[in-house]
Amino acid sequence: MKPEEVWDPRGLRLRQVRDRLHESRLDALLVSHLPSIRWLTGFTGSSAFLLVEPGSATLITDFRYRTQAAEEVGDAISVRITGSDLFAELALCLEEGDSGPRAGFEDHNLSVRDRRALGECCGGVMWEAAGPLMDALRSAKDSSEIESIARAVQVAERALVEWLGAVREGASERELAAELVYRLHLAGSESMPFDPIVASGPRSALPHAHPGERRLREGDLLLVDFGARVEGYCSDMTRMFVLGSPAAWQVEIYRVVSRAVESAIEATEAGVPARSVDGAARDVITGAGFGDRFGHGTGHGVGLEVHERPSVNARSRDTLESGNVVTIEPAVYLPGRGGVRLEEVVVAEEGGRRVLTTFPRDLKEL
Ligand code: ZN
Ligand code: ZN
Repeated sequence: MKPEEVWDPRGLRLRQVRDRLHESRLDALLVSHLPSIRWLTGFTGSSAFLLVEPGSATLITDFRYRTQAAEEVGDAISVRITGSDLFAELALCLEEGDSGPRAGFEDHNLSVRDRRALGECCGGVMWEAAGPLMDALRSAKDSSEIESIARAVQVAERALVEWLGAVREGASERELAAELVYRLHLAGSESMPFDPIVASGPRSALPHAHPGERRLREGDLLLVDFGARVEGYCSDMTRMFVLGSPAAWQVEIYRVVSRAVESAIEATEAGVPARSVDGAARDVITGAGFGDRFGHGTGHGVGLEVHERPSVNARSRDTLESGNVVTIEPAVYLPGRGGVRLEEVVVAEEGGRRVLTTFPRDLKEL
């Protein structure tokens, strides 16, 4: 081992997977979910399997990724390029490998057709659903992952500042969304973690609005929910603006949501049940009489995927761990009038939290 070598998390992550396999009495794990493959190997291609066995880890991909795979994966992982398909190569790999007959697969990610193919290609293997094994491992981020997410937040915030210059009366939501995508790319986002939501006036009351042809008018609430991607890691934030001076009802729901955000951030801490963070936001909104106007969860984990573990909602069974990065995004939606949602990215830590979003949270008049 070279002493000057930079620390590479892949060895540790593979060890964590092997420990979990051991606990689950599994001899091997087939990883098919691409973000999990990236997390374990660094591979960023669009088609691959990763087979983790006690003494080896093998990335199986096709000829399009021959050069890329060799460059991206570390020495600890061997690469096999299939001449036919991933399943056939997997069968060969398992035949030659050192693992026993019980192998796990990612049941939340494999299609019914792929599950059938797995049974047909590897007859001697007993395939068992491994559940959210990989998702659970990926949910507690190390410091380099948190820094990547923090950079993705900064890129998004820089783009937002630039984008505000283009927001004017008469601009359509679709034009503004296109402008935001452009600004995000210029600011350094590798790709869009999701299509930005730009919703104006009464359409701000649609939790997952698609930007449409509606044009901005005086007095509109303007909701923008978007993110950037840096080193594979996503950010996700929502801010609200108002064209001109806000009406009293807009200020009222804005204040309620703002207080809900503060309360949920205060509640975010390692060791706390995620549902109590949801409760902290929901209690504020319910207490203000808008409980039935907040129909979704308070937040979700963010990482290589924009929605991942842990879930922050009333049904969540997750307990926050140090290094969990979650969004806090309570809302009040008044159908036909407008809605307010605010979204922050927060890291749970021992005895506290770190808020990664820095863009001011007040209702900015444009
Ligand atoms: Zn969002
Ligand atoms: Zn979100």
